[in-house]
Amino acid sequence: MFRFTALLLLLCALAPSLCEAREAGPEARIGVLANRGKESCLEQWSPLIRTLSDALPDVAFTLVPLDFEDVDRAAAEATVDYILANPAIYVNLEVRYRAMRIATLVNQLGDRITASFGGVIFTRAGRGDINTFQDIRGRSFAATSEGSMGGWLVGLSTLCAQEVDPRKACSQLTFPGSHNAVVQLVLSGGADAGTVRTDTLERMAQKGQISLEDVKVLLPPDFKPDPAFPFLYSTELVPEWPFARLAHTPEAQAKAVAAVLLTIPAVQTPDYGAQWTVPLDYEPIHRIMRELRVPPYEDHGRISVKAFTSQHGPLVAVLGSLLLALVLAALYLVMLNSRLQEAMANLREAEAELTTRADTDMLTGLCNRRRFSEIVNAEIARALRYERPLSLILMDMDHFKLVNDTWGHPVGDEVLREVSGRVRHSARSSDFVARLGGEEFAVLLPETTLEDAVALAERIRQAVSCRPAHMVGAQELNCTLSLGVAEVCPSIQDFSALYKAVDEALYRAKRQGRNRTAVSSFCVRNPA
Ligand code: GH3
Ligand code: MG
Ligand code: MG
Repeated sequence: MFRFTALLLLLCALAPSLCEAREAGPEARIGVLANRGKESCLEQWSPLIRTLSDALPDVAFTLVPLDFEDVDRAAAEATVDYILANPAIYVNLEVRYRAMRIATLVNQLGDRITASFGGVIFTRAGRGDINTFQDIRGRSFAATSEGSMGGWLVGLSTLCAQEVDPRKACSQLTFPGSHNAVVQLVLSGGADAGTVRTDTLERMAQKGQISLEDVKVLLPPDFKPDPAFPFLYSTELVPEWPFARLAHTPEAQAKAVAAVLLTIPAVQTPDYGAQWTVPLDYEPIHRIMRELRVPPYEDHGRISVKAFTSQHGPLVAVLGSLLLALVLAALYLVMLNSRLQEAMANLREAEAELTTRADTDMLTGLCNRRRFSEIVNAEIARALRYERPLSLILMDMDHFKLVNDTWGHPVGDEVLREVSGRVRHSARSSDFVARLGGEEFAVLLPETTLEDAVALAERIRQAVSCRPAHMVGAQELNCTLSLGVAEVCPSIQDFSALYKAVDEALYRAKRQGRNRTAVSSFCVRNPA
């Protein structure tokens, strides 16, 4: 009788909301996370659906049990209008689909009442080898499901704070899908340790499924339990499950549902009681999920290029322009450098060419007088220092003026080239051959005595006179040379002294009738 009166009073109080609900639409699909399996879900939450239906008879309430994987899709595709799920799922839906909490669950087990929950990390009571979080390293570990707040994430956060991350530290990590399955797995020895949401152990114990004496709860160092919290726990405590509406849910209907939730007495099932309070602050859940980088915060702390660009557009533009300018400048410098290298290579080539030209007689390709005098000076110094023999042959073409006068200058040039070739071929590779000017040639002979030099001078003379130096038609053009030879001695210190000695001999050869070799009277080593 009392109950009936209370319900009547309640309905009167809710009258305006009921009118709005009627306007708002007839259907309200409540998706509920089936964290203990679909059957258990239906058993737990059908009484709430009945209460809501009784309170709002014009709205057709249906209960939609959802697996962990189904929740996101149900929200994305709007196949449910309300979601009752753990706070981790709620936070994800809040960020991604603008879900909004309208009430927070007050959990009740017998006389234990709380709007908070957390995780309990435990092992079997008999496991003397596992006493602290550190002891689970290298062991197998079980947790409810990767999306479970109480059955994984809050425990993971607490373990990570002690630098024990089961994802890396444990030999095996199992997610059997429900809290009860984790408890059974750990107590049967299928996993060394595990974590479930608070109240799971007490509920199972109440049903006689387990004995709490078989469970050893693991705690972080310096853990200070809240004496007001009525269940075993090892982690920080977070607000209980929120009842959330989705963005598409009609405003008026959501308002009416919230009004019912906040005013109904605890809804009882055989082993379970729940009531509702004003929506709590879920910031601690956001923090845990950010720390663990789980959806929707999988990219937390990582700055994507897109996000950075949209946040710092002008800075990115300035930096981008600077970078572009730098790249262009670098490319320009590379191009300039390559041109410079090319110019320097050309310069070196031109320099080498100039040096060659400065040292070379252009008509015959032989060494010229300037270069030859340098070589002679260096060789004289060397020969005197090491007392080595050094000789010079000076040669002049006989009556060459006649060649020019008779056959012309170009023919004279041809003859000069031919004679220079014969002189060069007669000499050794270690000798230095030069055209000193006009029709005058010289050969410097290192390591050569006067005697050997005279022999070579004779070979040269014969090489020139033995056959015509040029043919003009059928006309043979024969040439001869007069040669003077001298050897270096201590009284000859440089090119001009040596030249003077050898020129004297050459002059004598000319006077004695040409086409012959004469030896300088200076410094004859063996006058005999
Ligand atoms: P000698 O036997 O006394 O040496 O009589 P020569 O005619 O050879 O001597 P001379 O000094 O009277 O004449 C040298 C000639 O060599 C004069 C010049 O026309 C010629 N000559 C000098 N340089 C060149 C040249 O580069 N090309 C040509 N074709 N003739 C040259
Ligand atoms: Mg001459
Ligand atoms: Mg001459």
